[in-house]
Amino acid sequence: MIVFLQIFFSLLVIILIILFVFQPRRKEGYTLPENYADVLNDYVRFYTGLDEYALKRFDDKLKKFLSSVKITGANAEVEDLDRLLIGAAAVIPTFYIKDWEYINLREVLVYPGSFNTEFEQHGHERSISGMVGTGHMQNVMILSKWEIRQGFINSSSQNNTAIHEFIHLIDKMDGTLDGVPELLLERKYVARWKELLDITMGQIRTGQSDINPYAATSPVECFAVISEYFFEQPEVFQSAHPELNEMLRRIFIRK
Ligand SMILES: [Zn+2]
Repeated sequence: MIVFLQIFFSLLVIILIILFVFQPRRKEGYTLPENYADVLNDYVRFYTGLDEYALKRFDDKLKKFLSSVKITGANAEVEDLDRLLIGAAAVIPTFYIKDWEYINLREVLVYPGSFNTEFEQHGHERSISGMVGTGHMQNVMILSKWEIRQGFINSSSQNNTAIHEFIHLIDKMDGTLDGVPELLLERKYVARWKELLDITMGQIRTGQSDINPYAATSPVECFAVISEYFFEQPEVFQSAHPELNEMLRRIFIRK
């Protein structure tokens, strides 16, 4: 009987060890806060225009993004609202692109306001309210909490810093940050696209455009700035810039 018990307990211990070692690791996903739909309806114009099927798709993409990218406050408290808005800014430009993943993004650092100093020289950016890192900051995006909110609160503006930074990541995904998203734009349109960026920058420099003058800095910034405008004020953009609109539809919507 004692031998039997010994064998029994030995087996039990072995089974417990096996269960402990080989337990399937549950991948923790991000759970959207209960009021997420109300928040998105309040702040995100793009979201309010979606039908039931598209809303479900938006929610899935949002959840997937927030489960895979870490969002960390740097002297700033990251609230649910910030997470949802960052997620929305990631989803909006890639909403129509099947199976898109920001494989070049690991973490978003949230600063309280505009930042300065050392990041400027490593990153590339617009009065440093947002930045996509390079070098040791590779795969990291920095955003200011104030700008994240501002981009969504002001619904009549053509600017949205968080979307702007995600456009840079999309541009960068093919290996070069050059204003040409080769993965998304068919080859036959690339030459015309580059021409259009040049023409647009020229119009801005001569004061003949309603586009934010920051776009005239470079083709990279031009692509990011006009994309913000395209997503933030679609109707105005379409009527003011029909050819750019058509190109951006080819890039982001591709229907
Ligand atoms: Zn930029």
